[in-house]
Amino acid sequence: MIPVFSPLLGEEELKNVNEAIKSGWISSKGKFIEEFENKFAEYSGCKYGVAVTNGTSALHLALTVLGVKKGDEVIIPNFTMMATALAVVYTGAKPVFVDCEEETGNIDVKKIKDKINYKTKVILPVHIYGHACDMDEINKIAEKHKLFVVEDAAEAHGAEYKNKRCGSLGDIGCFSFYANKLITTGEGGMLVTNSEEIYEKAKSLRNLSFGKENRFLHEEVGFNYRMTNVQAGIGLGQMKRIDFILKKKIENALLYNSFLRGVKGIDIPIEKSYVKNSYWMYAIRFNDNFGFNKKDVKTKLFEKGVDSRDFFIGMNKQPFFKKIGLQVDEKFPISEKWSETGLYLPSGVDLTKENIKYICDCIEEIKNGK
Ligand SMILES: *Cc1c(COP(=O)(O)O)cnc(C)c1O
Repeated sequence: MIPVFSPLLGEEELKNVNEAIKSGWISSKGKFIEEFENKFAEYSGCKYGVAVTNGTSALHLALTVLGVKKGDEVIIPNFTMMATALAVVYTGAKPVFVDCEEETGNIDVKKIKDKINYKTKVILPVHIYGHACDMDEINKIAEKHKLFVVEDAAEAHGAEYKNKRCGSLGDIGCFSFYANKLITTGEGGMLVTNSEEIYEKAKSLRNLSFGKENRFLHEEVGFNYRMTNVQAGIGLGQMKRIDFILKKKIENALLYNSFLRGVKGIDIPIEKSYVKNSYWMYAIRFNDNFGFNKKDVKTKLFEKGVDSRDFFIGMNKQPFFKKIGLQVDEKFPISEKWSETGLYLPSGVDLTKENIKYICDCIEEIKNGK
């Protein structure tokens, strides 16, 4: 079976994990943490990094630092991973959904304005599958309405918008280092920013908001979102590979494109002229011309030894929102279409050219009813 993804780990990571264990620095103190924060923040075009337990906690911490609370609203795409919406729910604020655009699956910038009111505090775009959102337009809207911008860049390490890296384009950028992300620390995440004030606040809130004068007098409701030194050691090892991983992802995507471009009924991923797509996952859609729906394709691919994954299901369809009184009756036709027609194909960096050729041949066979 060709898996959808497998992480690339090796000697560098092992060496650092060994060192952390031998030195006894296995919790959240130790030399790897700051080094990893500095390296990754710099990579993402930011001055400061705050390493945390996962991407979800990075998002929650980011919104908390910006003062988001009950009674506020945060604008997010309807088509995203659940963590984006949950981070908003944790703060007590209300997530307000915006449909996605047809070409990229990213939040439809033209539809943001209609959702802004006096309660809106933050716009939280997500760079879906590694294609950057139109950040200039989003920042313009945010500036006009005095809103903060938090990027969910959990799928966009190394991706670029107008030659700037994702994560550095708003007030705060949030990353995940889950095993299937561009680089991994097992579980892990990071908040990056160019604001010293945000940085200091985030560091304090990450660590239970211990008092400055008297350590055991806490002025804020802090969290324990600390990353361990062991994880940071893995992350530092990954930083030595990040350029290679990104390059390989892009090469693989272009190879997939070359085989699938000519197949009628498939929408291959795009790359707008001002974007560098990181192709975190190679995500395609099957339109009516393909002749089979993606559910059939998924089953048949599996029978041929190729694993794949469905796209996200829209936030408006999530049962738990009803339970907490946040049901939306509004329709989100584009995001629905994306969910119904999209699959992502194996996207690991260990894929060979032959693997990719085989996967694309399988897709053609399926189209021809085989
Ligand atoms: C992976 C992901 C997250 C959450 O990251 P975790 O580390 O799993 O908590 C958030 N948003 C998006 C868009 C993601 O893909």
